[in-house]
Amino acid sequence: MTTETIHHRACPLCEATCGLELTVRDGAVVRVRGDRDNPFSNGFLCPKGASIAKLHDDPDRLRAPVVRVGDDPATATWREVSWDEAWEIVTEGLRRVIDRDGRDAVAVYLGNPSVHSLGAVLFNAPLVRAIGSRNVFSASTVDQMPKHVSSGLLFGNPLLMPVPDLDRTDHLLMLGANPYESNGSLCTAPDFPGRMERIRARGGKIVVVDPRHTRTAQAADEWIPIIPGTDAHLLVAMLHVLFEEDLVSIDDTLVTGIEAVADTVAPFSPARVAPVCGIDAADIVRMTREFAAAPTAVAYGRIGTHTVGFGTVASWAVDALNIVTGNLDAPGGAMFPLPAHDSGRDRGRGRGFVTGRRHSRVGNHPEVRGEFPAAALPDEILTPGAGKVRALVTVAGNPALSIPDSTRVADALADLEFMVCVDPYRNETTRFADVILPPPSALERTDYHMAFFSLAVRNFAQWSPPLIPTAAPQEHEILGRLALIATGPDAGDDPGVLDEMLLVGALEGAIAAPDSPIADRSVDELLAVVRADPSRSTVDHLVDVMIRTGAHGDWFGAVPDGLSLDALAAAPHGIDLGPLTPRLPGALRTTSGTIELGAPAIIDDLARLSAALDDALAHPADADRLVLVGRRDLRSNNSWMHNVEVLVKGRARCTLQMHPDDAARAGLADGAAAEIRSRVGAVVAPVETTTGIRRGVVSLPHGWGHDRPGAALGVAAGRPGVNSNVLTDPGTLDPLSGNATLNGIPVTVRAV
Ligand code: SF4
Repeated sequence: MTTETIHHRACPLCEATCGLELTVRDGAVVRVRGDRDNPFSNGFLCPKGASIAKLHDDPDRLRAPVVRVGDDPATATWREVSWDEAWEIVTEGLRRVIDRDGRDAVAVYLGNPSVHSLGAVLFNAPLVRAIGSRNVFSASTVDQMPKHVSSGLLFGNPLLMPVPDLDRTDHLLMLGANPYESNGSLCTAPDFPGRMERIRARGGKIVVVDPRHTRTAQAADEWIPIIPGTDAHLLVAMLHVLFEEDLVSIDDTLVTGIEAVADTVAPFSPARVAPVCGIDAADIVRMTREFAAAPTAVAYGRIGTHTVGFGTVASWAVDALNIVTGNLDAPGGAMFPLPAHDSGRDRGRGRGFVTGRRHSRVGNHPEVRGEFPAAALPDEILTPGAGKVRALVTVAGNPALSIPDSTRVADALADLEFMVCVDPYRNETTRFADVILPPPSALERTDYHMAFFSLAVRNFAQWSPPLIPTAAPQEHEILGRLALIATGPDAGDDPGVLDEMLLVGALEGAIAAPDSPIADRSVDELLAVVRADPSRSTVDHLVDVMIRTGAHGDWFGAVPDGLSLDALAAAPHGIDLGPLTPRLPGALRTTSGTIELGAPAIIDDLARLSAALDDALAHPADADRLVLVGRRDLRSNNSWMHNVEVLVKGRARCTLQMHPDDAARAGLADGAAAEIRSRVGAVVAPVETTTGIRRGVVSLPHGWGHDRPGAALGVAAGRPGVNSNVLTDPGTLDPLSGNATLNGIPVTVRAV
């Protein structure tokens, strides 16, 4: 007899965390709709979320570990093995390298999907600690690391990021962000487009600064087509205007370093930066006055402001605009979420934020949040000498497509002695692996989107238990077992030891927290409570502890009607915890207990920005210069989704967008093949002419280039596109964050 059931869970495929309604018939998902009863997403659904079952059903998705047979990935064959055999091979490979060359000889690369999986969020850190290598890399340094650094310097906590209060603001200034395609990032806001439309409907204004006339820019009141890589110049000039015209509104008991900033931004007049940004000085002044005059206003910058040579200064300047106009921590401005799993019990003074506690072996790059720049990974593998990386562990990462100078990345991966990847696909990176360990699909695991609820425009919580049962190890079990192997033979092979350690640590922390309502309870008693339901796993237990001891928690019965995992389980559509509320100064973790606006690292980097401005004014760019920027497509998410037929069929999406005037000068017509060449490489892509891009700027989407031999992505290989990171330059990093420069790459374009 056919059985049909309906289930609700949060979509894990981008940061928006929309509610899904899934109909399951005889163990298979037969329909996906937006969950209309989800109070945060209200039924919103994009094409990616609608395709989640296709990912689960994808025949190319690995269901069991595989090992490579043969040295050359292009000609190797692959053998499916049992988990026991896979663990034996991983143990031999990792231990061999560690015993011979030390722990630094093993590098770790954590990919962006790690943040979308609860098991990886909770177990990546223990894995990294167990490996004990200084060579830790992640997708953060090809993405948002500048935001972590600016938040660390301003607020003392690199994870304390203000988000735009979209639902209450009167004026939204958006830079380098395209939520009509990406659905928002570092800003969890299901139906971001709908929230934008409502800003305008209630009489507010939206200004979009972007070299492309994106769908987001088209939906705004005003488009400012900036020259790529100059957002920091524009934002600092806006700060100049605010101080010059006395438009600042600062609580100087909360903010320090104001005078240093006022002095430092003084040379950045709109007239000076205008020719470098490509924006009229009068427009810069007008934009600033409008921002300052709005009843509430918020600046929000994303990938285009971060993946440039002044990414940290640009990120800082976005927050500085909000701070000096009195729009930080205020309704309608930029606010700090207080998710269910955050206790909110910080006390206003902390240890501050430091970087550079160690430096990389080859490029002498400072560590930032325990990581070196991803762009430096190939150097650490290929450069001979003591400390050379010989083994690599990747978790949900595709550095072969994601980090700069992909040709050299491939050389580096081929040079490794041993590589193990936790990944559901044999892709452009994992084709180099010795062993691939596949985690369950997103429908086979439990989820609570810890990172994204910490960035949400409303406080919201939703827990999603596994929908489809699996006998395969869960991701946290895979990562736990890897951690034991890396620790050494004495650690044994029972991941339960690690589970116990994490749970006990979480409970001990909650019992010892300031003013803890459970200060008189014992770990053993509370352990028994969270483990009462045998159907739940370790990650559920950990989330339960965090929820119970969070700002909205029940503190194991001490707070009546507070939240627990049971309460979330009883609310499959999620629980709305209300609009964001002010959190300062309590949430600050700087040593001073204030917002440190004039952090010395920022003041120093503003001097570098000033020197760059002088240089640009002294040496104006040639009129026919072209620079490359990336772009996002609604049906795509980095390199993740290109093996889903329904998402990639139809018109070609990996095209070189180019203004018709630039195309004509290069002798290129729509659809013609063009060679795009940078300092480090060249690719050929079809031209798509459009007036929706600034003259002098060309654009390729990232995450493509699925034509590598040895990968097993049948659909993606049919529409491979080209890899934009063949063109990006690992030599041009943002020095404060180590973030790669992926936008504003000088290129030449010619017909082929
Ligand atoms: S916007 Fe993001 S979270 Fe929402 S359905 Fe699409 S992919 Fe899923």
